Amino acid sequence: MSHNNALFARARHHIPGGVNSPVRAFGSVGGTPRFFARGEGAYVWDVDGQRYIDYVGSWGPLILGHAHPAVLEAVMRAARNGLSFGAPTAAEVDLADLLCERVPSMQQVRLVSSGTEATMSAIRLARGHTGRDKLVKFEGCYHGHADSLLVKAGSGLLTFGNPSSAGVPAAVAADTIVLPYNDVAALETVFHEQGDQIAAIIVEPIAGNMNLIQPSPAFITAMRTLTEAHGALLIYDEVMTGFRVGPQCAQGLHGVSPDLTCLGKVVGGGMPLAAFGGRADVMAKLAPLGPVYQAGTLSGNPVAVAAGIATLQEIDGPGFFENLEQQTANLVEGLRKEAAKQSVSFCTQSIGGMFGIYFSKAIPTGFAEVMTSDRDNFNLFFHAMLEQGIYLAPSAFEAGFVSACHGSAELETTFVAARRAFNQIQQK
Ligand code: PMP
Repeated sequence: MSHNNALFARARHHIPGGVNSPVRAFGSVGGTPRFFARGEGAYVWDVDGQRYIDYVGSWGPLILGHAHPAVLEAVMRAARNGLSFGAPTAAEVDLADLLCERVPSMQQVRLVSSGTEATMSAIRLARGHTGRDKLVKFEGCYHGHADSLLVKAGSGLLTFGNPSSAGVPAAVAADTIVLPYNDVAALETVFHEQGDQIAAIIVEPIAGNMNLIQPSPAFITAMRTLTEAHGALLIYDEVMTGFRVGPQCAQGLHGVSPDLTCLGKVVGGGMPLAAFGGRADVMAKLAPLGPVYQAGTLSGNPVAVAAGIATLQEIDGPGFFENLEQQTANLVEGLRKEAAKQSVSFCTQSIGGMFGIYFSKAIPTGFAEVMTSDRDNFNLFFHAMLEQGIYLAPSAFEAGFVSACHGSAELETTFVAARRAFNQIQQK
């Protein structure tokens, strides 16, 4: 038996489903998840010694690739001084300064340990600030696993066909209004009817948890004008898009100034770190200044902060995002060409270092369209690629990620593998 299979069997004894986060389980694509032993640059190695080109990058954080020397050095330096203090440190002030400099809408920021904590706290803050309970979210968007947000959500909930989790009190779910992504008319109607009860809109400004879905310019504008007109807050959940789609996140690309922003993944450089921040008058409502409580033993952890600062410094280098964007565009264009050669119904798009591949005729613009893509073809493609040492997200409903270490050699290898994979689909 392979080490992967043996480990997965063992893991299931004491870990539900053998994994510590559901999407890792290969639940929708079938087969045994790979247990990773090591990563370097664009590559990961599993416990059987098989090497893969990694297009998951720990689900987004690893924009510099695995085990980047500058990040490792910063982490080790910080660790030698102690792992946690539960008291303020100079480095967290540096990171807060950096984040507020880079993201113009962020006047103040608080550090937390996961994206879930960031969104959960931002929502509580929005409710505390406005004195209202209702929240608008969009179908297929995933904002972590806090109760209010597990209603018609994306990511693993979508993958496993359970978009609204059990265990969420009906009374809590009742305050979450779910609308279709990109549907301006639905948004206008809801604000017209209930605008005075809505605390906030929370949105993935570029959705990456129902595969990659881009917002229309009208949708972006409507969210900002409606919230402003009705005294609600606009929360950009940039946990995935933050410093992934560009140097000023999605809001920089959209030219929108949200009231609150959630960050995660890239800002922690692979360590457990996330953040939420925004308007100073809103952030002033947080304890110890204000009445909205939010806290964390490990918040602003010095080792995680060190990884975050090192990562943000590296991505600030000249041409970083131009190169990443070009490389990611090259990747999806190459895949598209290979599919076209085999007449497989397939399309792609990318933005910054994030990409979507769809087994459908046209690029989807919302949840309903994503659901019509050919899942059997995706599963075939996923396994054919995996066998050839290309590691993609094990679900048709996740975005993919390219790192600064993915060069033309890795892309070429990927195209050769894709040629065979599309051929298998065409022959089936
Ligand atoms: N928001 C978005 C947009 C995300 O993509 C994710 C995680 N994929 C989260 C929130 C939750 O972050 P975490 O898994 O760190 O709790």
